[in-house]
Amino acid sequence: MTAAIPVPPDLAGHPFFQYRNNVLYAEDVPLDHLAGQLGTPLYVYSRAALRAAWNTYHSAVGQRPVLVCYGMKANSNLAVLKEFARLGAGFDIVSGGELKRALAVGADPARIVFSGVGKQAWEMRAALDAGVMCFNVESEAELQRLSDVAQETGRRARVALRVNPDVDAQTHPYISTGLKENKFGIPIGAALDAYRSSRLLPGLEVTGLDCHIGSQLTDISPYFDALEKLLDLVADLEGIGIRLSHLDLGGGLGIRYSDETPPSPKALLDGVFQRLQARGQGHLRLVLEPGRSLVGNAGLLLTTVQYLKHGEARNFAIVDAAMNDLLRPALYDAWHGLRPLLPRAGDALDYDVVGPVCESADWLARQRALVIEQGDVLALESAGAYGMTMAGNYNTRPRAAEVMVDGDHYHVVRQRETLDDLLRGESTLP
Ligand SMILES: *Cc1c(COP(=O)(O)O)cnc(C)c1O
Repeated sequence: MTAAIPVPPDLAGHPFFQYRNNVLYAEDVPLDHLAGQLGTPLYVYSRAALRAAWNTYHSAVGQRPVLVCYGMKANSNLAVLKEFARLGAGFDIVSGGELKRALAVGADPARIVFSGVGKQAWEMRAALDAGVMCFNVESEAELQRLSDVAQETGRRARVALRVNPDVDAQTHPYISTGLKENKFGIPIGAALDAYRSSRLLPGLEVTGLDCHIGSQLTDISPYFDALEKLLDLVADLEGIGIRLSHLDLGGGLGIRYSDETPPSPKALLDGVFQRLQARGQGHLRLVLEPGRSLVGNAGLLLTTVQYLKHGEARNFAIVDAAMNDLLRPALYDAWHGLRPLLPRAGDALDYDVVGPVCESADWLARQRALVIEQGDVLALESAGAYGMTMAGNYNTRPRAAEVMVDGDHYHVVRQRETLDDLLRGESTLP
């Protein structure tokens, strides 16, 4: 009987989630146990996986002047943030809410960069009060507002201009940000003028140059294309007497979802520093803002099969997680690995794995060969990034719980939302 159970292949990119005796584990915790204790849908993170991902950056940096700011919109659970803060990370924030989270875990404001295309005055004020390292500014109008707010608070805001270098990151159009048709950044051709005007604004101190060309990049050359354009601009800026102290290349390194082989942080950093030296810009401090590559493969989403539905054209596995829990398939047509916690013997059928939400876009995986029965628990892989942070309450569905595994222990790091939580704050007319 046991001999007939197919042994699933090793999860190459996922050393912290492995089968032992045909049970899927997170580190030393059997996941069927977790699902039984805490219910599903359930996000499960591995602390060791977070640390390992951090270490790939940390060891690649070595003695070079690099500040790694975790792009926390990928996963902003306080336990995840605290772990990175302990490891010495800075943070890349995109809202006043993310600032609040960073400060809540004791992040050093001198290592926080504030990105985002639509900063409001209250968010600027809060970040100035906290003393963040830098604002990445995306338009002339934002420069003006930031200068005004800084003056009101009696401070000067350190700024980098986010330029749009017009390079093709060759990633999904929804996560490509460095092309001239994107809303992000100041067109590189207009950057020199923007720097000139920022110099005239009394509330600002210009310190850097920033770009972020996209996400899930699996090819390294777009980074270097962008860098060369940025370094041309740095030289032009020196020509008009503006000397910068840092260069921020954003985030975007991809991860392995299926068979991608994304570039390593070391390959990126080696290539960047080689080019900085070659252009006489070795004095620039480098900032990186990785999100996905620090957390993506440190998380799973567990979900239970509610019904199997065998149609004429398709077989459906209807599960208790949905697009409100994991939006990436619906939004980006994204592919996530899918594995049963307790693999069964038998003949596989091709299934579309879908949620209960009333939308045809509510699918999690398509055409997967599975041997499953009602009640089985499945793990969606690579769900640590842009999973829970994109979750919502569509169909009045409470958001999932989150748990962090640490060796043979686990900690619930976010309680499952209750129905009362969902109704709180609403009222009817008298
Ligand atoms: C989203 C984002 C990041 C992180 O991107 P990843 O692809 O997750 O590494 C970094 N910087 C900015 C400005 C972002 O918008």
